[in-house]
Amino acid sequence: MAGETMRAWVVDTPGPIDSKPLTLVERPIPDPGPGQIRVRVRTCGVCRTDLHLAEGDLAPRRAQVTPGHEVVGAVDALGAGAQRFALGDRVGVAWLAHTCGVCRFCTSGRENLCVAPTFTGWDIDGGYAEYVVADEAYVYALPPEFDDVAVAPLLCAGIIGYRALRRSECPPGGRLGIYGFGGSAHLVAQVALAEGLRVHVLTRAAEARALALRLGVRSAGDAADAPPEPLDSALLFAPVGTLVPVALEALDRGGTLAIAGIHLTDIPSLQYERDLFEERTLRSVTANTRADGRALLETAARIGMHVEAVPYPFEQADTALRDLAHDRVTGAAVLVMGAAAAV
Ligand SMILES: [Zn+2]
Ligand SMILES: [Zn+2]
Repeated sequence: MAGETMRAWVVDTPGPIDSKPLTLVERPIPDPGPGQIRVRVRTCGVCRTDLHLAEGDLAPRRAQVTPGHEVVGAVDALGAGAQRFALGDRVGVAWLAHTCGVCRFCTSGRENLCVAPTFTGWDIDGGYAEYVVADEAYVYALPPEFDDVAVAPLLCAGIIGYRALRRSECPPGGRLGIYGFGGSAHLVAQVALAEGLRVHVLTRAAEARALALRLGVRSAGDAADAPPEPLDSALLFAPVGTLVPVALEALDRGGTLAIAGIHLTDIPSLQYERDLFEERTLRSVTANTRADGRALLETAARIGMHVEAVPYPFEQADTALRDLAHDRVTGAAVLVMGAAAAV
């Protein structure tokens, strides 16, 4: 659409969220290249990674990048050779934008570890905008069970939580601890419960503890509390390194702690005997494969996942990030196009 412009949020100068690092600008509407589609954005989830990018905890890969990698919209234009979707189809654009396809990780089912990946809303412009272009091979068809607001958080929060759960290798019927209970955790808790795990939530926000109990977890305590029973596995969603030894101490022998976030504050020094001996395992979770994404979307539809979504008008993206930073969002914030007039 040569000459036409759209509104897009960009990370201007990364810094504390209260210093307003995001700016709403007018930009040319992008044209899809070969193998790409253009999506007219209807909703976009707000992920903690967007906050890390805005605040500079995640080093910017490109100046004035538009964040947003939980993008839901309708296919609006097809680039040369794009044939997977039809105009008007509802699709989801997620974090993994492209992988090389030839490195040892891509060729062994581990494209999440690709040596030359690109990510939506970090390397290339994301969905805090009226339009986004994406490589069609990395775009998801979306389950019709979910509306545009509810399905957005599944695209990162859901997928990463799902991969973290798999990486935690919790045994059948096992005891799972979840540290931090925001957008991702409240979704993966439902997968864990559907799989028959005994779920314990540990988080500082009282509203999040109440949500966890409503979803059916066995207990909900403060982040620093010990869970009521030793854990086979734990997931750390809070970006707080001081919780690593806390979670390790809550593990039973042979237990595994999986750290789900892309950014974590420094981990204090560990004591080998107390924190790791007896075959406790500490591991990270890095991005996801497309197979993880499809598995999460199928699982969410099958178990009737409840998405606790908090809608914000597109024009209030900076407010949504501020609320996320200050623990004022219970569940997942979602930007909604065309909502301003209704608010
Ligand atoms: Zn690769
Ligand atoms: Zn994310």
